Amino acid sequence: MDERDCIFCRIVKGELPARKVYEDEDVIGLLDIQPFSRGHVLVIPKKHVVWFHEMSEELTGKVFKAANRISQKMKKAYDVEYIDLFARGMRIPHVHIFLIPTMKGEKNVFDMFVNMFSYVQENLTNPFSDEEMDEIAEKLRNA
Ligand SMILES: [Zn+2]
Repeated sequence: MDERDCIFCRIVKGELPARKVYEDEDVIGLLDIQPFSRGHVLVIPKKHVVWFHEMSEELTGKVFKAANRISQKMKKAYDVEYIDLFARGMRIPHVHIFLIPTMKGEKNVFDMFVNMFSYVQENLTNPFSDEEMDEIAEKLRNA
């Protein structure tokens, strides 16, 4: 997908409307139009980058600083129990950090999904031997 066709780039340029809750020089935060919970926000770098791991260290710092600031706003505005965070660039190929607050006493569909994910993980058998786990750790340490 070309930057000109990217929905998030078009929002950044002001060509498409969005409910912005945060903006600085490099980052915007906007309400997801298909929210998992009240106050579900997407944190997006203004620069077109597809994946989280493709952002520079500097831009990553800026995006996560904005995510922290938005989280503080969520806590100030609502009775937040906790906030989930994950990064993707899949459905819309422009990296977006999901900030999904769980409000006290409110159902959160994403949280239900993550609880299911936790259940699956807790019941998985590690497919790697101890030796392989040591190798993986060493390979990542030394990369
Ligand atoms: Zn884009």
